[in-house]
Amino acid sequence: MKKIRWPDTCLFAKMTWPEIKEAAESGAIALVVVAQIEEHGPHLPVDTDVLIGETVTLKAAEILKKRGIPVVVLPTVWSGYSEIDVTRFPGTISIRPTHLANLLTDIGMSLVRSGFKKIGFVVSHGQNRMAVEIAVRELRDRAKAQAAMFIFFSSEIDKKILSSKEVHGGEGETSIYLAVAPEYVDMEKAPKEPYVAKGRKASSALQSGLCWWTTWSVQRTKSGIFGDATLATKEKGEALIDAYANLLADMLEEYYRSPYVSPEEHGEG
Ligand SMILES: [Zn+2]
Repeated sequence: MKKIRWPDTCLFAKMTWPEIKEAAESGAIALVVVAQIEEHGPHLPVDTDVLIGETVTLKAAEILKKRGIPVVVLPTVWSGYSEIDVTRFPGTISIRPTHLANLLTDIGMSLVRSGFKKIGFVVSHGQNRMAVEIAVRELRDRAKAQAAMFIFFSSEIDKKILSSKEVHGGEGETSIYLAVAPEYVDMEKAPKEPYVAKGRKASSALQSGLCWWTTWSVQRTKSGIFGDATLATKEKGEALIDAYANLLADMLEEYYRSPYVSPEEHGEG
């Protein structure tokens, strides 16, 4: 039987401790996808953010391997924070942001102890961002680690590939699920509940980015999605995965090549 071992696999969970030591010593970036289990309408499984985050990150890892850049991918943090609107639907598991930030910091501290010099959190669910930012800062200050947050969702990419705005469970996310595991998607139940810009768009103070108060800039959803899932296709999903993975790989390459600078020699704001 052919064995699959590092560096043929980048899956941290499948590696032995000597392999993890070797990966860390080779300067590999340790990647953690921070996803969510949350309702995504009547047509998509609740693990949509998990599937998207893992698919894009593993593809980015493949691209980086070809460029000679080592990465390891940890098991996904499968649940994060969901705000009140989607918790009205069954299937949404929400972790308080402070718990999530502490969890991510502890995972990062463990990776530092294992010898990794660079840690990357890949955000696969928008509302996890605030917790990731706290963990990145804590890891820097408490462990002198270089940690970073990566977001691959890009409205510029979406505009090129999609014909409607993707916010949650719409054309984009449904397309990616169709490209990866169509057997789990029920297109007969795909809703059309297009995004309607509200709150944030209507406030110039919020638009300035200089102040923030909690509001969604969308209408209340009836089906559990914001978008038009009926427009989804496998081909659009493949194109999105490809574009997101290349974007993520390019950002990770820049991170890999950036020199480590300790907090002492680098005044930080
Ligand atoms: Zn989602």
